[in-house]
Amino acid sequence: MTQQPEPLAAPPAPPAPVRTEHVPCPACGADAPRPYRSDMYRIGEVRFGLVRCPCGMVYVDPRPDDEALGQIYDDPSYYTDGYNLGVETENYFDRREELIAQYDRAVAEIEEETGIREGRFLELGSAGGFFLAAARGRGFEVAGIELSPPAIEYSRRELGLDVFAGYLEDAPYAPASFDLALADNVLEHTLCPARSLAHLRDLLRPGGHLVVIVPSYVNSFYFRAMLRLRALLPRRLLGRHLLRILKFDEGDAGYPYHILEFDRATLLRLVREAGFEVVSVQGSVPLPAHLFKRDDLSAGERFLRGVFRFLDAGMRRGLLPAARLRFLLRRPADSPPTGGAG
Ligand SMILES: [Zn+2]
Repeated sequence: MTQQPEPLAAPPAPPAPVRTEHVPCPACGADAPRPYRSDMYRIGEVRFGLVRCPCGMVYVDPRPDDEALGQIYDDPSYYTDGYNLGVETENYFDRREELIAQYDRAVAEIEEETGIREGRFLELGSAGGFFLAAARGRGFEVAGIELSPPAIEYSRRELGLDVFAGYLEDAPYAPASFDLALADNVLEHTLCPARSLAHLRDLLRPGGHLVVIVPSYVNSFYFRAMLRLRALLPRRLLGRHLLRILKFDEGDAGYPYHILEFDRATLLRLVREAGFEVVSVQGSVPLPAHLFKRDDLSAGERFLRGVFRFLDAGMRRGLLPAARLRFLLRRPADSPPTGGAG
C-alpha cells in the first residue's frame, strides 16, 4: 500500500444530552437550598437557576454534570465573544499588549505585598497566558493550568509557556514547589472549592502566598436589591449591554460558567478551613469596558461611568459591600503537609 487515504473531515458531533445533578452546598455540605434566582443560565434548552444555602453560599442547583461542564469550555468563542461574561467587549487575544502591561503592575503589587520577588509562580486558570508572561518578564519561573483548548494552544504557541491541560488535581507538580500562586476568576467555576484550595495550599511552599480573586456581585446586596426593584429599573439609562452584565434578564446570562457565587463570609470560611492565613481582603467592582475604554460617551454613559467609579472607590476603602473580592493568603510557615496534593 503506497497510497495514503485522504483524511476525512469529522462529521459534526451530535449535540450531547445535557445531564444535570443535584448537589449539596459546595461550601458547607448542608443540603437546605432555598430558591435565589430561577432561570439564570442555559445550555441549549436546559435552564439553570441559583439557590442559596443558609450559610450564605449561592450556587447552581441542579447543575450540569462533569461532562456537560467540560463541554462548555470547549466552546471556541469563550474568549472571543464578550468574554468575562460580557464585562469585556473585545476579543481577549487582541488585548495581549494591554493585558501584559496591566498584569506587570499586578505582579509588582504582589511582590510588594509579599516580599517575594523571585521563584516559581503558578496560575490556576491561566487563559491565554498573559499574566504568566508578565510574571516571567519580572523574573519568575512560571507554570499554568488551564481547561480551554484554544487558550492552551495560544499560550503554548504564541508565548512558549508551560501550561498543563486539565484539572488542578491531575497537574504534575510536586508539593511545596511554588512560591506564589494566582486563581483569578477561577474558583467560581470549580466543583469543589475546598478541594481546589487545599491542593493550591499543598503546592505552595510554607510561607508561599496565593491570590484569589472572585466575583461576588451575584451574591451581594446589590443584586438582591435590584431583583426586588426590577420593575423600577431605568432600563433605557442602563442600556442593553449593562443589563446583560448585571444579569437581570432571565435566561440571558449564557452558559453556567459560574456555578458558585461566593461572598466575603463564605470565602473566608473556605480559605481558613483549607489552612490559609488571610493577609488581606480587598473589594472592588469590575469596570465595564464599554464605559471605560471609549471617549465618545453619551451623557447617560458618562453618568454611569461616574457611578462605577464611585462604587469602586467605596468598595476599595471597605465602605461599601464588594462586587468582586481579592484575597491575599499565606500558607503558614510552620504548616505540615495536608496530603491533598502530590
Ligand atoms: Zn452552605
